[in-house]
Amino acid sequence: MDVETIELFKKTHLPKKGWIQGCFNCKNPTSKLKHITTIKNNNTNYEFYCHICKHCKDTFKKDEILHYNFIKDCKIYIYDKYYYEINY
Ligand SMILES: [Zn+2]
Repeated sequence: MDVETIELFKKTHLPKKGWIQGCFNCKNPTSKLKHITTIKNNNTNYEFYCHICKHCKDTFKKDEILHYNFIKDCKIYIYDKYYYEINY
């Protein structure tokens, strides 16, 4: 089984290949990643991670509903953008 890691982030002026990217929630530069979901096809596991800054992480820790909605939005984004690519 192969594993492919896909990182989600907001577009910023930062270099595309760098390990610091815009937080997926607020665009602040961050290297912190949070696992969102895994999608499998026949021979590959696609692991999806979001760049989330410390500030947003703290906010989500305090507000479960906000956190829940964020994860939901991430998943919708991932399925919209990648599901067909992965499965067909
Ligand atoms: Zn943030």
